[in-house]
Amino acid sequence: MVSPAESCHSGTTEPKGSVLNVPVLLLNRSFAPVSVTSVRRAMVLLFAGVALALEERGDSHDFSRWRNLPVRESDDKLPVCGGALRIPRVLHLLRYDRAPRFGVRLTRRNLLLRDGYRCQYCGDEPGIRELNVDHVLPRARGGRDAWDNLVISCRDCNLKKGKRTPEEAGMRLARSPVKPGWSTAAHIALTTRMPFSEWQPFLGAS
Ligand SMILES: [Zn+2]
Repeated sequence: MVSPAESCHSGTTEPKGSVLNVPVLLLNRSFAPVSVTSVRRAMVLLFAGVALALEERGDSHDFSRWRNLPVRESDDKLPVCGGALRIPRVLHLLRYDRAPRFGVRLTRRNLLLRDGYRCQYCGDEPGIRELNVDHVLPRARGGRDAWDNLVISCRDCNLKKGKRTPEEAGMRLARSPVKPGWSTAAHIALTTRMPFSEWQPFLGAS
């Protein structure tokens, strides 16, 4: 058996930024988002029968049915022998039971998203340039770079707090910093990656 992408050799090499790298959302058996993969891997999963491709309306298709769906204007497509194959946006993994694990990298940008671009001490929203990342337990005193020790803070609060803990400085955090759960993580993924309307029902985005 050959995979759909390899079934027809045109002799051309794969272009950069190829459609094979477009993101596809993966859902576990109970339709919770588990990760984002590439079209390349998604097509392998679909072709191997371990996943079904979902349409916007919720209809699911195995590869043999999916390959017969027409390619519409809004679709990305993969050239195959004798035509084109519609790129699925969402795959349903039939035998994957594990709970959602949407990883979010610990970056300044993702901290800003988690904290809503708001100083976690005074609630100000002075704009990205005026916001710092604050170590709740200062680094000089063993505070780690971790989701539960980093918060967004305005410059004034950052200066005022200095090398003290919030308690020592008489400052209060709006909320305890935590690692984003999967829904927040999915929201972050949505705002930082190419969003598709087809993902929205599964990510709870409005
Ligand atoms: Zn502040």
